Amino acid sequence: VDQGTPDYLAGLNPEQREAVETTEGPVLVLAGAGTGKTRVLTTRLAHILATGRARPWELLVVTFTNKAAREMRERITALIGPSAEGLRWLGTFHSVAAQILRRHAELVGLKSSFTILDTDDQERLLKQLLEAANIDTKRWTPKSLSGLIDHWKNRGWTPEKLPPSEDFANGKGHALYAAYQARLATLNACDFGDLLLHNLTILSKHADLAEEYRRRFRYILVDEYQDTNVAQYLWLRLLSSSTGNVCCVGDDDQSIYGWRGAEVDNILRFEKDFPGARIVKLERNYRSTSHILGAASALISANKDRLGKTLWTEDQSGDKVRVRGVWDGEAESRLIADEIETARRPHAGEPGLKYKDMAVLVRASFQMRAFEERFVLLAIPYVVIGGPRFFERAEIRDAHAYLRLIQSEDDDLAFERIVNVPKRGIGETSVQKILQIARHNGVSAMTAVRDLITSDELQARTRTALSTFVRDFDRWRALAADTRHWSLTEIVLEESGYTDMQKADRTTGQTRLDNLKELVQAMQSFETLGAYLEHVSLVMDLDRGAGDDAVQIMTLHGAKGLEFPLVFLPGWEEGVFPSQRSIDEKGEKGLEEERRLAYVGVTRAKQDARISFAANRLVYGRWTSQLPSRFVDELPMAHVEAESDTGYYGASAGMKEAKSRWDDTPVFGSGYSSPGWQRAQAYTAKQSPTDRPARKALIEGEGRLIATADPKAGGNWARGERVFHQKFGYGNVRVIEGNKLLIEFEKAGEKRVIDTFVEKV
Ligand code: ATP
Ligand code: MG
Repeated sequence: VDQGTPDYLAGLNPEQREAVETTEGPVLVLAGAGTGKTRVLTTRLAHILATGRARPWELLVVTFTNKAAREMRERITALIGPSAEGLRWLGTFHSVAAQILRRHAELVGLKSSFTILDTDDQERLLKQLLEAANIDTKRWTPKSLSGLIDHWKNRGWTPEKLPPSEDFANGKGHALYAAYQARLATLNACDFGDLLLHNLTILSKHADLAEEYRRRFRYILVDEYQDTNVAQYLWLRLLSSSTGNVCCVGDDDQSIYGWRGAEVDNILRFEKDFPGARIVKLERNYRSTSHILGAASALISANKDRLGKTLWTEDQSGDKVRVRGVWDGEAESRLIADEIETARRPHAGEPGLKYKDMAVLVRASFQMRAFEERFVLLAIPYVVIGGPRFFERAEIRDAHAYLRLIQSEDDDLAFERIVNVPKRGIGETSVQKILQIARHNGVSAMTAVRDLITSDELQARTRTALSTFVRDFDRWRALAADTRHWSLTEIVLEESGYTDMQKADRTTGQTRLDNLKELVQAMQSFETLGAYLEHVSLVMDLDRGAGDDAVQIMTLHGAKGLEFPLVFLPGWEEGVFPSQRSIDEKGEKGLEEERRLAYVGVTRAKQDARISFAANRLVYGRWTSQLPSRFVDELPMAHVEAESDTGYYGASAGMKEAKSRWDDTPVFGSGYSSPGWQRAQAYTAKQSPTDRPARKALIEGEGRLIATADPKAGGNWARGERVFHQKFGYGNVRVIEGNKLLIEFEKAGEKRVIDTFVEKV
């Protein structure tokens, strides 16, 4: 009987439909931005459920962020109703892996109540290990070791599997890694990387278990497949059979997590690993206008290392991508804030946009502050997705430490964090002694304390304080059994004296108390304390709940998979974007990854993309002159409309190609005689757009032009201070006049210079 086409299939194009309806056997959807990959995945999920091919808990669905997982769940619920609630295994790689690990924790020597450490805890732990091994932690920082261990884990390397070529601190890498893992086990803890790594260990050592999961997961669906790393890839392989019903969707042009060990090669390997896999290509973009798509396609075509694909759209409406040059970061935030307000107004019969329709996508989080300040000033509602993370604030971490210690006595890091917060007269020496004894006896710090309070090792005063501490925790733990966890939190904060401590602080106390209130509130949407703490460890940067109608500020990395009618892309400057660091560290490869990030950025826009760059920027407390990003040069004039407040725009935008255009377009504001314009001409005449040293030389030579007018320059200068100036050499500060310094130079004599161009020596 022909029952017609179900609603959810009706709107799909033939290729999309093929990807949805080919439910059996491996399928790879390889396609550009906005072609409906995620939509295909969601519809496929609905299709499998609606046709009774599997029940919700038999599906393993992996998305890249918790936000994406939430959205997918909502979409499915809209399509098939409440039965979507049974989708137990829909989440990020980490959240699903954590679920599996909780069930089999004992197989890797953990209890199922294990704690997931954050980077801060992790680094503290590593610092201890480094110090214990007499390693200079200035030279070999805990941070770098933590990054390295993370890298190893992303490659699926346990200490046993670590290749000999991998190292840290001259031959100590392996031992440190092993010691770290051992320490984690005694703490009944693991870090983020362990979630998958332990899964791999469990699944590869226990064939029966792996087989059970393979039977359970009748269909596997993976979004953003291009960014899976080796560990995630191995994990997927262990959970699926080679003939399995695995559907992965991805876009090699959007692979932007190279630094986290993601491997585009996984995409290419798919066909080999899953013989007979159906490869589906989607070429029609449903998201963006043709100008946006044209700009993005031209940009990404500068990358050599790509599979290459065609993209087209029917949407011929819309404006060109707008590129703006502005004076400095503040001008940039002012411009964007103004444009946000303008976009909200109805225009030419069209209703205005909502705040939430607009996003500001930055390369690095330091760029966010200027926008936040501006938005606060103008009362523009905004959310920072992944910004200064709520859960990383000290008071929140303190509260969590109390809760963690209530949940698990083994959590020494939590113990260390709050044993003397608020102050209980338990000094650093006593704490060290406790930890030392704990380590020596192979027990938790709490257990060591129980021992110590009945001995004479510590001063009587300290012993009394510790007895109270232990009694408090015993009481709270008992209370936890029949108290809702948020009430428990309030009680703990009150009884421990933490609230009073904050009340006594006149500077930030109130803010912190407000944050704690917020925390208690946030906890109420979780069933149990355990569920809440798990959530906290898993909430990655990108997942702070957004207000109802607010401008979205986030990093380009965090914007993956999302779409907005209007997208602002600020900070397109050399060194900022592409980031200097990624070029320094990874050369051409790094640059290509940055370019993919630019492609991701532009393709988030549905109707409007607006790129901007500033001529001056405060970087690490110093004003620096900036050059427009080479990505600006790479944008095709046919899809771009450029304007500049400073004449500065002339310094870029594919000068050669655009020359004629510029010649008869008056530059806004200061015109051809402006310093920026002169510089632009010098710039074109002198060098090719991709030649970074030349750009740098130019900026140094002509930087003064900018600096003279720079209103923001300033610094802490002292009379008599010895300084160095690019042009005049060494000298001593004589007089300080605002941002100008009168300097007696050793060779050049007395000069008045702008402090931005002077370095302390
Ligand atoms: P990205 O690579 O950025 O993750 P994607 O390939 O996952 O993009 P989607 O987010 O699934 O693309 O789709 C982009 C937009 O196009 C969405 O708004 C989606 O609803 C819409 N879309 C996809 N397919 C169709 C279709 N057949 N008809 C109408 N709209 C569609
Ligand atoms: Mg997508």
